[in-house]
Amino acid sequence: MTHLDRALALKDKLIALRRDLHAHPELFFQEVRTAQRVAETLRELGIESQTGVARTGVVAYLGEGKPRLALRADMDALPIVEANDIPHKSQNSGVMHACGHDAHVAGLLGAAMLLAEDFKQGKLRGSVKLLFQPAEENCGADGKSGGRLMVEEGALDDVDAVAGLHVSSATPSGQIAVRAGAFMAAVDTFEAEIFGRGGHGAYPHQALDPIWLAAQVINAIYGIVARRMDPTKQGLISVCTINAGTATNIIPESVRLSGTIRSFDENVRALLHRELQNAFALARAWGGDYKWKLLDGYPATVNDPKLAELVRGVARDLVGAENVKEAELQMGAEDFSFMARAKPGIFFNLGAKKDDVNRPHHNPLFDIDESVLPIGAAMLAETARRFLAR
Ligand SMILES: [Zn+2]
Ligand SMILES: [Zn+2]
Repeated sequence: MTHLDRALALKDKLIALRRDLHAHPELFFQEVRTAQRVAETLRELGIESQTGVARTGVVAYLGEGKPRLALRADMDALPIVEANDIPHKSQNSGVMHACGHDAHVAGLLGAAMLLAEDFKQGKLRGSVKLLFQPAEENCGADGKSGGRLMVEEGALDDVDAVAGLHVSSATPSGQIAVRAGAFMAAVDTFEAEIFGRGGHGAYPHQALDPIWLAAQVINAIYGIVARRMDPTKQGLISVCTINAGTATNIIPESVRLSGTIRSFDENVRALLHRELQNAFALARAWGGDYKWKLLDGYPATVNDPKLAELVRGVARDLVGAENVKEAELQMGAEDFSFMARAKPGIFFNLGAKKDDVNRPHHNPLFDIDESVLPIGAAMLAETARRFLAR
């Protein structure tokens, strides 16, 4: 029996697990019940785990020694009120598994069930390390996400490589999308304030209008990608908030704005940061001033080409070549990137489109086709088997 045949026999169990997690979503660094559920399920398999890793994460080993592959699932939910009318609807008001991390946890537990059996029967050499990480969606007060914290605490130090997956609610159910090299963008955030001099709206010459300064700056920002970046590269800057003013006849003292920066390579990333500062400096050219803060987010998620090839082969054998696609570059970001930067990594998508309703990630109507859970479990388990057999 293949890993997929065996995973299909676990289907009801995995769906029940996912529904339990779905009904009890927890926000970043609060995944206490989720972690308990993970530890309990592993204990039933005879696997002792360590909780409290990276605050609320869980780590466990299957097998012994090297080679060792880490398999990762993220556990956190989002601050969204669920709009789905389903029996396992979120019971934690205002919190929802709207990105599918409940499916990731259930899928990795499914892989653990398959692999525990393999190790028991002596079919595998080396070992697998399970990483259930907290806080993929958000960072703690120290500005660090769960994946980054796990890396900094050394969770990747004793592994040779790391693999993970993300369900995709827009991709046909059961399809696997893989990409070698850069896959998901690096994200950084900026917060800025542009200062002028307030005054009467009827006497702009006696003031220094910061809204006008901001208009120059924003134009300059949107010129960066078009005129300052190598057009064969990818990157973007979006201004996403702008706040100023109190009345129709008062020129305010300052304008606050913030936005997001995305890129795939470190040179482009550095260029966007530099040019953004130049754009803000325009405020000074007109006699105003600015201050800004650049918040480092997640690096780009870059897949190891050999691991991408391995996963492609696993996918072809499990779901058929017609269901294996080349993943497109995504401007979205993932904190799996910290792990894939620490060790060779592979992150791929598992299609889980449920029906014809539009159910984007991070939306109150987000939902997935649960029948893909065994595929996710089998993909991770078989990837581990082949990695250890290399
Ligand atoms: Zn998300
Ligand atoms: Zn996610």
